[in-house]
Amino acid sequence: MADEQNSLFETEPQPWNLDDQDDWLAARIAFADQPYGPYDYSIPADLESAVKAGVRIEVPLGRSNRKMTGYCIDIIGPFHPLAASVKPNRMKPIERVVDQTPLISPTLLKLAHWISEYYVCELGIVIETIIPAGVRNDSGTREMLFISLADDVRDNYDAHRLTTLQKTILETLAGTNQDWTPRELGETVGCTQGPISTLRRRGLIVTTSRRVQQKTHEIRAEQRIANFKLNAEQQTAYDAIEKHIDADSHRTFLLRGITGSGKTEVYIQAIQKVVEYGRQAIVLVPEISLTPQTRQRFRARFDHVAVLHSHLTSAQRAWHWKQIAAGKVQVIIGARSAIFAPTPRLGLIVLDEEHDGSFKQDKAPRYHARDVANWRASNENVPLVLGSATPGLESWQRAKAGVYHLLPLEKRVLDRPLPDVATIDLRVDFGGRKRFSPISQKLRQEINGALGDKGQVILLLNRRGFSTRIQCPGCGHVEYCPDCSIPLTHHMKGNKAVCHYCDHTIPEPRVCPDCGNPAMKFSGLGTQRLEQEVQKLFDVPIMRMDTDTMRKPGSHEKALAQFRAGEVKILLGTQMIAKGLDFPNVTLVGVINADTALHLPDFRAAERTFGLVTQVAGRTGRGEKGGRVLVQTFNPDNKTIIAATRHDYVGFADAELPVREEFAYPPFGFLARIVVKSPIQSKAEQMAEHIAESLDVAATDLQTAVEVLGPSVAPAEKLRGFYRFHMLIGTTTEGVLQPVIMRAKTKIKPIDDVQWMVDIDPQDML
Ligand code: ADP
Ligand code: ZN
Repeated sequence: MADEQNSLFETEPQPWNLDDQDDWLAARIAFADQPYGPYDYSIPADLESAVKAGVRIEVPLGRSNRKMTGYCIDIIGPFHPLAASVKPNRMKPIERVVDQTPLISPTLLKLAHWISEYYVCELGIVIETIIPAGVRNDSGTREMLFISLADDVRDNYDAHRLTTLQKTILETLAGTNQDWTPRELGETVGCTQGPISTLRRRGLIVTTSRRVQQKTHEIRAEQRIANFKLNAEQQTAYDAIEKHIDADSHRTFLLRGITGSGKTEVYIQAIQKVVEYGRQAIVLVPEISLTPQTRQRFRARFDHVAVLHSHLTSAQRAWHWKQIAAGKVQVIIGARSAIFAPTPRLGLIVLDEEHDGSFKQDKAPRYHARDVANWRASNENVPLVLGSATPGLESWQRAKAGVYHLLPLEKRVLDRPLPDVATIDLRVDFGGRKRFSPISQKLRQEINGALGDKGQVILLLNRRGFSTRIQCPGCGHVEYCPDCSIPLTHHMKGNKAVCHYCDHTIPEPRVCPDCGNPAMKFSGLGTQRLEQEVQKLFDVPIMRMDTDTMRKPGSHEKALAQFRAGEVKILLGTQMIAKGLDFPNVTLVGVINADTALHLPDFRAAERTFGLVTQVAGRTGRGEKGGRVLVQTFNPDNKTIIAATRHDYVGFADAELPVREEFAYPPFGFLARIVVKSPIQSKAEQMAEHIAESLDVAATDLQTAVEVLGPSVAPAEKLRGFYRFHMLIGTTTEGVLQPVIMRAKTKIKPIDDVQWMVDIDPQDML
C-alpha cells in the first residue's frame, strides 16, 4: 500500500511538511471502488476527535484531487506498530468526516481484515458487504426536532414571568435527561404547541435537529411454549455445548442428526443459556428455511428475535441492525449475511443445514458463512454449532480428525422410524414402453395408495421448465442461448424458450433455424411438464413449486401453508421442496430422477446427489402414519444412490473420502479457482495463460508446492456474452494459496476487455 501511495503522489509537492517528525497522525482509508487503497491521509488537529476507525471519511484522490469517500480502518501515529509503513510527509489531509459514530465495530473490522486476506478481496468491498446499504445511506431515518432547556434557565425560571402552564413545561424538561419532541412534550404536559412556541421565542427553551431511525418494523409476540424434555442424545449434545458457554470458550461442534432428530430443540436450549448470560446468539439457516414456521419456533421461546430475510426493505434492515447493535435483540436468525450481525456480546453461533451451498456467496467477497462463522466464533471466544443430517465432507473430515467435536443424534425423536427407501430402475421400467412417462408404473401405484389412505405426496425433480432440450430431429441442431453456452429450456407458459442462466427468452422455435425442418423436437423433463403429467394421472389438487412459480415475496410461504392445510395433495418441485419442511401427513416421497446432478463435471456431484436424495427422503415419515420413499434412477447400482436409499451417511462418506484424497480435493487439499472472462475469446485465453504463468512463477519464488491445473475452457464456456476460461490452483498445504495469488497479482498486467476473479474454496465449478 505504501508503494501505491508513492506512485500516486510522486510528482506532487509535499503538502504536509512538518517540522517535528514525531508529530503526525494518519488515517488509513480503504475504498470500496477503484483504486481501493488503502491509502494514508493526515488528520488535521481540528478533526482529530472526530476520526475513529469505522467512520467514513472524504478525501482528495490522485492528481486531480477528486473527492472520494472511504472507510477509516486505522489511526496510526508515530508509536503505532504500523508507523513504519506510513510516509508522514507525503500525506494529504483528509477533507471531511462523514459519520459521527463508526458504522462498524472494531470486532467486525477485524473480521473484515481476515475475510479480505483469506478470500483475496479488497478490504473496502468487504466492509461494504458487512454494513447494510440501509445503514450506509440512512434509510428510514428522519430529521426530527428535539427540545431542551436553554443553558442558563435550568435553575432560575423564577426570574422570568411565567404562566402556570409554561412553568410546568420547564419543570418537566428540567426533571429528566431525555430528549423531547414537541409532540411528546405537549402530550405529557397536556398542552397545545402554543405555549411551547412562546417559550422558544423567548429563548427559554431551544430546539436542535437530529436524524433518527424510524421504527419501521413491528415484532409480534408469539404464543409461548415450554421446552421439551431432551432425550438422552439431545441431552448429551446440549451438555457438551453448555460447558463451553459456561466457560466462555470457543469450540466447534458438528451436530450430525438425521432429519427429525430434534436438532433445533438443542439449538434453542443452548441459546436460552446464552440469553441468561445477557448475550446474543446468531442462527444461520439457508434463505429457503426462513419461513414463518422457523420464525414462530424461535419467537415462541424468546422475547426478542430478529429475522433477517431477503424481502426486508433497506430501512427495515437498517432498523434491525441498529437494534442488534444496541444489544436489544437476543436471537438473530438469517441467511448467510446474518453472520455480520453487530451483536455487542456474542454468546453462540448456530449454522443449521451446514452443508447447504447457499452459505457461499457467489460474488466478491466470495466468502463461506461457515468459515467466517468459525473465525468469528474463535475470535470472540464462543462456541459454534454446525448442524446437518448430511454434513459437508469438509466438516465431517474435521470432526473425524477431532478438530470439531462430533455430537451424533442417531434417532428420530419419539423413536419414529426413518422411512423405507426403494429404488426404481428406469432402464427396466421404460424398457418395452412406447410412450415416455416420468411416472413409472410402480410410482403411480404407490401414489394412488398414499392418496387413498388420505396421505400427501411430495415429488422432486430438480429441473424447471417444460422440456430441457429443443432439438431438430433432421439435422441435430440444438437451440442454445446466443449469450451462454447453455441449451434453452422450453417453457409451456407463454410458449417460449428461456436460458436458465441469463433469462434470455425467445418465442418457442417450431422450425429448425438451420435446416428449416418444421418438426422441432422438445425433450428432457422439467417441472412444468411433470406437473402436466401428474395432473393427467391423478385427479387431486396439485401444486408446483420452483423459482418460476415462487417469484413473488411470500408466495413460498403461502404455498406451504396450503399444503399444510391439506388443500393440496401432491406437491411437486425442485430442491426448494427438499429442505427442512416438516409435514406429518406426507406419507410418500418420489424422486423423479435421482441422476440429474450425478454426472456434472464437479467433484462434489456425488455429495450433492446424496444430500438431495437424503434431504427429500427426510420429508416423510414424520407423523404417526409413517412414510415411504421411491427413487427413480438409471443408476441403481451407483454407490451414492445406494447409500442414500439406506440413509447411510457414514457409508457414503467412507466411500467418497478416499476418492477425494486420491485427487487431493477438499477436505484433503485446498483449492482456489480463477475465472477469466472477456467478450473476445482470444483475449480471455491470452489472459488466462498469463495468469497461470504468473502463478507458477510466484509459487516458485515462494518455494511452495502449489499446482496450477489449466487454464482450460470453463465448463460453462460462455455466459452472458462473455467467453470463459478457468484454472484451479491446488495444494495440500494450508495457507499457501493466498500468498501465491497475492504475489502473482502484483505481476499480472491487465488486458483491455478482460476481467478475472479469484474464488477461494470454490463451490461452483462451472
Ligand atoms: P431436526 O431439526 O433435527 O430436523 P426438529 O428439531 O425439527 O428436528 O424436531 C422434530 C420434531 O420433534 C419437532 O416438531 C420438535 O418440536 C419435536 N421435538 C424435538 N425434541 C423433542 C423432544 N425431546 N421430545 C419431544 N418432541 C421433540
Ligand atoms: Zn443465456
